[in-house]
Amino acid sequence: MVHEWALAEAIVKRLEEVAREAPVSSAVIAVGELQGVDIEILTFALNELKKSTKLESSLLLIEKEPAELECSTCEYRWEFGSSGLSEEEREAIHYVPELAHAFIRCPRCGSPDFRIVRGRGVWIKDVKLGG
Ligand SMILES: [Zn+2]
Repeated sequence: MVHEWALAEAIVKRLEEVAREAPVSSAVIAVGELQGVDIEILTFALNELKKSTKLESSLLLIEKEPAELECSTCEYRWEFGSSGLSEEEREAIHYVPELAHAFIRCPRCGSPDFRIVRGRGVWIKDVKLGG
């Protein structure tokens, strides 16, 4: 799970830059539903890495960003969570988002041609400064 640790390292590094200007009381880190990140490991890694940095007493929260899909044929938008997939299919897509096209069809017109408009990537969504 090197992926989560590398991510956590990048996030802590970025937040430390912010903390140089003013103490960070809390930060919200958004993780796309289809990013294939293990939230538990990421949380653990963040809490380990922030020790003995300026962020030691900062509260780091992780928020899951729901994925949204858009049909390329009829432009209909829907949430990945409402695609009616089985647990196994969701799991597979979570780790290999490209598989979404094998399992999901547009609920309106049935086209397998859609794009992921939201739900990928990891970013710092909000930072609160102060003691
Ligand atoms: Zn459609």
